[in-house]
Amino acid sequence: MAEMLYEGKAKKVFATDNPNEVVIYYKDDATAFNGLKKGTIIDKGIMNNTITTFFFDLLAKNGIPHHQLKKLSDREVLCKKVSIIPLEVIVRNIAAGSLAKKMGIEEGLPLKKPIIEFCYKNDELGDPMVNDDYAEAFGIATDAQVTEIKSMALKINDILKKFLADRKVRLIDFKLEFGVDADGRVILADEITPDTVRLWDAGTNEKLDKDRFRRDLGNVEEAYQEVIRRLTK
Ligand code: UDP
Repeated sequence: MAEMLYEGKAKKVFATDNPNEVVIYYKDDATAFNGLKKGTIIDKGIMNNTITTFFFDLLAKNGIPHHQLKKLSDREVLCKKVSIIPLEVIVRNIAAGSLAKKMGIEEGLPLKKPIIEFCYKNDELGDPMVNDDYAEAFGIATDAQVTEIKSMALKINDILKKFLADRKVRLIDFKLEFGVDADGRVILADEITPDTVRLWDAGTNEKLDKDRFRRDLGNVEEAYQEVIRRLTK
């Protein structure tokens, strides 16, 4: 049995014989509100492994380097071992969630330009929002890494927004994580799934993401399945 290096809220990471590679295992556990709400989304791990692999393949074809090497099974994917930069990089096209609350507006307002937001990954602190200066001043990321992350995040936004629009899905907002690989390169890591992306049906604005779980809207599994159907149509 391989050594488990890390267990997060939705995934486990295992060592392999190669020190530069890890296996990521997707669980069905779902959490919200910084772990206060806990539950299970049946087969989420299988669906999210499929969805991340799909998006990462699409992004790689469009010039975005990422950590995935090979899908191994329903729930497992072989990845380059990276050192995760402890920033949640949030990209927003339409106001929703914490942004709508903070600005005192209804969800659904289109933004005049995409917003990139950084949160410092620290559960005890509740992932506080930080800016470029914080990232550099606290040694979280270098100036060059911050520039690279922003440029990649906007490019990823363009690629995903266009791809999803063709499938009648609106890309509201999403969270990315980046890592530094053995060669010192900044690459996309973690996942891109309905756990981390807000997706609304373009016709009805029906939510096709984890807000169905967060807000007890029902049909959670069905929404994740619908995302897979749209992606692979
Ligand atoms: N998000 C995430 N993990 C987090 C916080 C946010 O994946 O710990 C994603 C979330 O799914 C949404 C986007 O980032 O797509 C923006 O989330 P927001 O800041 O509005 O926070 P929320 O309302 O989800 O707490």
